[in-house]
Amino acid sequence: MTLTFLAHSGFLLEWERFYTLFDYERGEIPPLRADKPLLVFVSHNHADHFNPVIFSLLARYPDTRFFLARDVAMTPRRREKLGVSDEAFARVTTLRPDAALTVGVAGETLMIRTVKSTDAGVAYLLGCEGRLVYHAGDCNWWHWESEGAAYCGNMAALYGRAMEKLAAAVALEAQRQGCAPCIDVAMAPLDPRLGDAYAMGVEKLLRTVSVKKLFPMHLWGEFGAVTRYRAAHPQRAETVMPITRDGEVFPL
Ligand SMILES: [Zn+2]
Repeated sequence: MTLTFLAHSGFLLEWERFYTLFDYERGEIPPLRADKPLLVFVSHNHADHFNPVIFSLLARYPDTRFFLARDVAMTPRRREKLGVSDEAFARVTTLRPDAALTVGVAGETLMIRTVKSTDAGVAYLLGCEGRLVYHAGDCNWWHWESEGAAYCGNMAALYGRAMEKLAAAVALEAQRQGCAPCIDVAMAPLDPRLGDAYAMGVEKLLRTVSVKKLFPMHLWGEFGAVTRYRAAHPQRAETVMPITRDGEVFPL
């Protein structure tokens, strides 16, 4: 597997037989092998996670499919506004929160499970080739103190529930594939705007499920947040990967 951090929450992950692109906003997508299908995932409708330019990938890579959270509403009017061709729309699958779907890709069965986000849309857990991959989207412990105690209490409960659902999905997927209940690659927000609470979501995730490699995202260009986190949690240095720039490539 090879993971390329494109920008913000956008990642390209190369599997044995296909590619997955998550939450593309901007950045240079490296040239893809023509013999590997491309599956494009959008976690929700926010502009920092969804750029309609993704639909133009189909022209260059005919074996492309799109998986959109339900809130990326592809009404006829919106499709027209965004310039989504009928051909591209025919390759769109819409996903509800807390759903499970199997997809055949290059002779493999890819399992797609969604977890309802604590913000808009969903987080994705994918299982295939004996691997488990998690992309959080905006599913995070959004501990905005300025919102008040009631908001923060509700958020703690919501994120706790999301992590329980993720743990259940990991267990199910591990059982289906006959592999260890462990996420191989996780991509999750480490948002410096949260101040001292910036790592609560990542910490809770790592305490709830077992993760081999976690790639922090939603950094708003502040890569120093990763350095700060790794310095404060030396026991996590093997797990939380030091992303330092847009376009960085990680062989896994
Ligand atoms: Zn976001």
